[in-house]
Amino acid sequence: MKFNTALESIKTYEAGKPIELVVREYGIDKDQIVKLASNENPFGCSPKVKDAVRAIIDNMALYPDDSMVKLKFALSNKYGIQSNELIIGAGSDQVIEFAIHAKAHSGSKVLMNSVTFAMYEIYAKQVGAEIIRTASREHKMDEFYALYLEHKPSIIFLCTPNNPTGDGLLASELVSFIEKIDSDTLVIVDGAYMEYARFKDPLYAVEPRDLVKRFNNVLFLGTFSKAYGLGGMRVGYGIACAPIIEALYKVRPPFNITTLSLEAASVALEDEPFVQECIADNFSQMERYKEFAHAKGITVIESYTNFVTLLLPEEKNSSKIAQELLKKGMIVRDLSSYGLNAIRVTIGTRVQNDRFFELTDSLV
Ligand SMILES: *Cc1c(COP(=O)(O)O)cnc(C)c1O
Repeated sequence: MKFNTALESIKTYEAGKPIELVVREYGIDKDQIVKLASNENPFGCSPKVKDAVRAIIDNMALYPDDSMVKLKFALSNKYGIQSNELIIGAGSDQVIEFAIHAKAHSGSKVLMNSVTFAMYEIYAKQVGAEIIRTASREHKMDEFYALYLEHKPSIIFLCTPNNPTGDGLLASELVSFIEKIDSDTLVIVDGAYMEYARFKDPLYAVEPRDLVKRFNNVLFLGTFSKAYGLGGMRVGYGIACAPIIEALYKVRPPFNITTLSLEAASVALEDEPFVQECIADNFSQMERYKEFAHAKGITVIESYTNFVTLLLPEEKNSSKIAQELLKKGMIVRDLSSYGLNAIRVTIGTRVQNDRFFELTDSLV
């Protein structure tokens, strides 16, 4: 059967290996497996969220509230925006999909960093758009600007802090760049790790409200999958001026968020202290990774997120090391498909991190 030819150049997204597969493939006991591969919060979500979800477990027969009034109200309050400046997606992934489908088409150009979140390219290729990438591993705004002038892309992705490298962009640099961009180019600022950046150094954190009040061509993305510990519930959001949100609504399927997910995300926003404690722990455990890497002569990219990217020396092959770790039940992310001889490790609990150091010690 022939399919849409736009799909031919798409490489299917490789998710972090699920624990269930490691159990089957390597015969390792489920509770012997440590997954530090998808940047989930190792402490999960607030206990209040679990109670709230249990309390509505009998509500599964009816379709969800498609106006999403409770979650929209909570998010608008948190960010100081109007509810018509907000769209909720099944993960911010789905908002990326909406934005690309709403703005780009065959022949459009989409500009992104050389190394960045893989889904931008996948969704862009679905509509037949052409991918333009910068050269440097970090976001270099002069490179972005030169390529912007050369190609006049319809969408620019800025992922800050960036996945899979963890580095961040100064908010002031981001704003000065956007000021130079024509209002018909949609600038998507992916803030999946913004809570971590804001904790570590507020100069690296953008305020979605400032972006949206100031620019009519910016879409900010946030998610409940990382700091809020709700990866399994699939909730993310986009913040932009009302006309952008209106366009995204035209490509949104109805009832895209389940009743349980809407409740979980709304209540998660009520327990900010829980999230802040998790983030504090994240950065204190991150110090241990820096010490480990330093002792081993491995370079760590300065991280504003809940993961570290370890750049390995040439003689240590990242795929092999990730494979060796997998056999021992430790799941990390090999970055060779991104052109980096590196592994990305999500910061776990103290015990999980101990296990990582113990298993990795003899390999690097
Ligand atoms: C995890 C992640 C997302 C999306 O996560 P969802 O679970 O779909 O909300 C988006 N962008 C980046 C950079 C991420 O790392």
